[in-house]
Amino acid sequence: MCGIVAYLGQKEAYPILLGGLHRLEYRGYDSAGIALMQSSGITMYKKKGRVDELQKFCNNLDTSGSLGIAHTRWATHGEPSEQNAHPHVSEDGSMALIHNGIVENYIILKQQLVNQGVIFQSDTDTEVLVHLIKNVQDKEKVSLPEAVIIALRMVEGTYAIAIISKDDPNQLIVAKKGTPLLIGIGDNEYIIGSDGAPIVEYTKQVIYLEDGDVGVIRIDKPIQISNVNDSKNLHRSPYIQTLELNLEQLEKGGFDTYMLKEIYEQPKAVRDSMRGRINLEKDVVSLGGILEYEQKMLNARRFIIVACGTSWHAGLVAEHLFETLVRVPVEVEYASEFRYRNPVIYEDDVLIAISQSGETADTLAAVEIGKKRGATVIGICNVVGSTMARETMAGSYSHAGPEIGVACTKTFTAQITVLALMALSLAKKKGTISMSQYHKLINDLESAPDKIESVLHYEQQIQRIAQYVATKPNAMFLGRGVNFPIALEGALKLKEISYIHAEGYPAAEIKHGPIALIDTNMPVIVVAPEQHTYDKVVSNIQEIIARKGTIISIVTEGDSVIKKMSKFTIEVPKIDELLTPLVTTIPLQILAYHVALIRDCDVDKPRNLAKSVSVE
Ligand code: GLU
Repeated sequence: MCGIVAYLGQKEAYPILLGGLHRLEYRGYDSAGIALMQSSGITMYKKKGRVDELQKFCNNLDTSGSLGIAHTRWATHGEPSEQNAHPHVSEDGSMALIHNGIVENYIILKQQLVNQGVIFQSDTDTEVLVHLIKNVQDKEKVSLPEAVIIALRMVEGTYAIAIISKDDPNQLIVAKKGTPLLIGIGDNEYIIGSDGAPIVEYTKQVIYLEDGDVGVIRIDKPIQISNVNDSKNLHRSPYIQTLELNLEQLEKGGFDTYMLKEIYEQPKAVRDSMRGRINLEKDVVSLGGILEYEQKMLNARRFIIVACGTSWHAGLVAEHLFETLVRVPVEVEYASEFRYRNPVIYEDDVLIAISQSGETADTLAAVEIGKKRGATVIGICNVVGSTMARETMAGSYSHAGPEIGVACTKTFTAQITVLALMALSLAKKKGTISMSQYHKLINDLESAPDKIESVLHYEQQIQRIAQYVATKPNAMFLGRGVNFPIALEGALKLKEISYIHAEGYPAAEIKHGPIALIDTNMPVIVVAPEQHTYDKVVSNIQEIIARKGTIISIVTEGDSVIKKMSKFTIEVPKIDELLTPLVTTIPLQILAYHVALIRDCDVDKPRNLAKSVSVE
């Protein structure tokens, strides 16, 4: 789930490990730890809380050594505590291990080890790994790399691990299954990371480990990679790739927080997600990454969209885009439910998986199911080279640039843009769209970045609304049609970063229950731009006002009806109804952001959340 950094080279490992942990902080975590190989053996420092706490704790301690492993933990088994923080060590302290992921059969493995007299120090599933490997090494009298391979064959679940051992103080062992791990190859040094962020400062040459890979890294020998699924334990030569990431892309660029920077980057993100994909001269929209499977998409009986969180909301927007324009039925599924439901999937179904990180465990599992059952599987993700990019048959990047703030903002609008392009290109080829509608939508899509820009100018006005919302314990978000998912997304943003309880509903649905919650203390944020259900929304607002609810509305510029009914209003520029989410979502992001600031919340790293949800 969270972060792994490791270093082997000629330099002092500690500052590199610590810097790497800072770079991975955006993924969300609850504790951090470092183990260093020193002349006296392995030294370990762990702290609950932020990486800064760990740094303070280490300040006057001996942090020498040029081999080390470091970890940020997002607890899955055992509470966040110093004891449960990684690294975990073998009983004799000679081996230390860090792990991201979940050992699913840890209860059985732990019992077997306890029966042999092993004493556990933590409540984690991870600790099983270090004792198991040590146990195999001692019993089978094999080398550490061999012991790792034998042990991992007994492990069910997901892992990215890094191991150091006093028996061979110049060796670093890494392995992965189901959660990413990259080896950066520098000049006489190796930097390992859960993603490119801790590596890019030192090198752009990387090896992406494949599932089941075990890498043995030493300075005096080339890297050896074998795979736990290969019974002959053959070594394969590593495939070295260039990391597509810049250091500047990871910095805050003058903004106080990553989230605000990313909100303001949306005009660029949306522009970048269209770049090279619309050819006005030839009058075509084309997404290079899916061309090979376009015929399958044109013949699709149905689209199944699988995603989680904000990406699921982008999927709900896509349902409107695809059904309206391509005239093919769409089902939008929570990946976590879909994967365990034994869903009916036909070979002429197209499954579209959406994930910011491309590492979302549930969405990746849904991808596997789609492939196994013969569907065409297309991915939409933001992180280049991620597992999703590699595991789907074809796909399109959202090209929003790295998103560090845990709450998704620019990747959401970029996802919607890519989905709109996809729908437009299919609709034109299928002949399910008139040429005038096609041209209007392309024009409006091209105008979206400027329109988003103009909404960003309302930040101060939205700040005043935030003063009001921040004093309330609850909030309700309403929308209809293509703006219902935006109401859901507005509620999600508010709860995830400000911890105010919020609900999103289709506006007409509140009569069936939620209207009971309306009173003077309930702000109701209504997403109500010009759309074909506008008059219906007006009636829904009347029902709320009749019950003394306070209306905060997002309307189209020039609106006179809903504006009069609202305590606060934000006006967004006019754009085709199907594309309104691109502008209506912006004020809701800014609102959540300022409410969170007023309530003194850590917007970039909200409590309990992780950026890349690589556990199910
Ligand atoms: N399952 C492990 C634990 O709870 C690892 C969690 C993580 O990926 O950070 O310690």
